[in-house]
Amino acid sequence: SGLIVSFGEMLIDFVPTVSGVSLAEAPGFLKAPGGAPANVAIAVARLGGAASFVGKLGDDEFGHMLAGILKENGVSAEGVNFDKGARTALAFVTLRADGEREFMFYRNPSADMLLTPDELNLDLIRSAKVFHYGSISLIVEPCRSAHMKAMEAAKAAGALLSYDPNLRLPLWPSAEEAKKQILSIWKTADLIKVSDVELEFLTGSDKIDDESAMSLWHDNLKLLLVTLGEKGCRYYTKNFRGGVDGYHVKAVDTTGAGDSFVGALLCKIVDDHSIIEDEARLKEVLKYACACGAITTTKKGAIPALPSHSEVISVLNGAK
Ligand code: ATP
Repeated sequence: SGLIVSFGEMLIDFVPTVSGVSLAEAPGFLKAPGGAPANVAIAVARLGGAASFVGKLGDDEFGHMLAGILKENGVSAEGVNFDKGARTALAFVTLRADGEREFMFYRNPSADMLLTPDELNLDLIRSAKVFHYGSISLIVEPCRSAHMKAMEAAKAAGALLSYDPNLRLPLWPSAEEAKKQILSIWKTADLIKVSDVELEFLTGSDKIDDESAMSLWHDNLKLLLVTLGEKGCRYYTKNFRGGVDGYHVKAVDTTGAGDSFVGALLCKIVDDHSIIEDEARLKEVLKYACACGAITTTKKGAIPALPSHSEVISVLNGAK
């Protein structure tokens, strides 16, 4: 099947060994590899698609560990660079007793932020049928220029451009800057997926409805998706709009649900972009993507919880 190239950050989340504690109270931490674009690449590969990750890691034990995780999962790492000076990005993440996620990032700068336009493997990027990215790679130079160059090269070569902003406010200098930069590349994307929280942030409206979603529409957009956690998702195209219900599961950790959803969607449309224009077929694909998202919440961590195609099929068959 056609190649899906996912561009951006891959890092290690350090998560407490016990739940409901603050970072300071945590008795110890477990390594949880992540970074939304890397999760998407692995989600695709696990479902049987062809995926490649493009980004930069530290030339250190953690960086080589992450590259190994890509390869073990069947993701090509030929677009991965290693920085001699900077470390692989780390983030300490905890779900406190009040349910709020607390983040502490180690990016001063980390290797992912130092990817330069010259380091890009343009042949690889130009061979993508789908090019997927987020917004964290827009925050600082030189990675921002690398992001722009990669996006333009993929677009010029005819790839479908897929954008999941994945807002991480603490990484931006200000909320205004986050909004401005996230929207600065809005009109290049063919497909955009936002969460309900991102919809509120980007529109400045406290309503999650069709009107606020459509305020994010642009003329060249083919598909806009708003994910709603356990409630599933809404979809918008030029010709139709609607919703798909979520699958009822017992969620233990929602990390990676959105990435799993995106990976599944991209896997299904990579060889046939016309699915986007056919509501019945698109709905089937989104049901599959919602099942993937739901399954991902039933296990701890993002990558270990990403389903294989056969797991998704058994969940879909069991549900009806
Ligand atoms: P992330 O936590 O990865 O940032 P997100 O906020 O981008 O995720 P969500 O809306 O949380 O995206 O989840 C994406 C999809 O996964 C949803 O559309 C839904 O289909 C599924 N999903 C997420 N959470 C649950 C849940 N608790 N129960 C069932 N399905 C879920």
